[in-house]
Amino acid sequence: MRRAEILHLLFETPWEELRQRAAATLAREKGSHVFVRGLIEFSNQCRRNCRYCGLRAPNRKLTRYALDADEILAAAREAVAGGVDTIVLQSGEYAVDAAWLAGVIDAIRCLAVPVTLSVGEQPAAACALWREAGAERFLLKHETADADLYAALHPGHTLAERVAQLRLLRRLGYEIGSGFMLGLPGHRPESLADDILLAQELGVEMCGVGPFIAQADTPLAAQPSGPVDLTLRVMAVLRLALPWANLPATTALATLDPNTGQAEGLRAGGNVLMPSFTPPRYRQEYRIYDDKNRVSLQDVRKAVEAAGRS
Ligand code: SAH
Repeated sequence: MRRAEILHLLFETPWEELRQRAAATLAREKGSHVFVRGLIEFSNQCRRNCRYCGLRAPNRKLTRYALDADEILAAAREAVAGGVDTIVLQSGEYAVDAAWLAGVIDAIRCLAVPVTLSVGEQPAAACALWREAGAERFLLKHETADADLYAALHPGHTLAERVAQLRLLRRLGYEIGSGFMLGLPGHRPESLADDILLAQELGVEMCGVGPFIAQADTPLAAQPSGPVDLTLRVMAVLRLALPWANLPATTALATLDPNTGQAEGLRAGGNVLMPSFTPPRYRQEYRIYDDKNRVSLQDVRKAVEAAGRS
């Protein structure tokens, strides 16, 4: 898809028409099946300084934690028993012990589910080791395709680095997932077209889009949240532009719209939900934004049913 066409779909096409086109493409390409990924947020340690995220290194209000291998495996067993089809291991970006994480991946693979990593930008050698240990997918959102905004939000880092890391992960044989936020301060809605074009160019297998939500202990604490209606429009356009991709209805969407956000995301072309299996006593400390909803398996069942999917 070209930029002009994407912009037209995003901002001119009536919502009902857009939604129906996305639903038709979804039905043709993906059927009615919703994939359910079990999310385990295994550590909130982070060395980075992302201005929007509560896990940022300078935030002293968080109690930093890291699950041990047994805790991760217990959560993974619970998720698998509940019927999830993949385990997603997510954390802040920290100097995780590569050999240790390889052992965890190997142990989860013994439960006969694929493993997805979402641990930020990590050294090539570590990413290669985890791929060998059996991790098949890697989520690393590009966050915004506006290079100036990216640099302003991620002090000392560039969009080019982020994209290079995604390409490296691809070369190592991972399926890659990217994604982006909307409504960040300084965000130009037209740059959403560049987000979609970048995801298209990278040929991502997954793309997650969510509204920005403020976190009290960050420099963006006072900023308003991103718009839910535009998030749904972006999902529908992503479905048309990347018909092959898996598109999650994000937890951020469920946080701003607890009753219907996930079902609306599925109706807008989404086909993935990601319930959390992070042990209860750590959940409060994984505060990437405020009032973060915990999507449970029960919420997933309700959303799938409400959207008339399987
Ligand atoms: N450290 C990992 C995981 C980050 S948390 C990494 O860098 O990939 C997962 C996602 O949460 C981020 O990619 C970002 O898109 C989203 N996120 C972080 N802070 C947020 C906020 N304040 N509002 C909405 N989404 C946020």
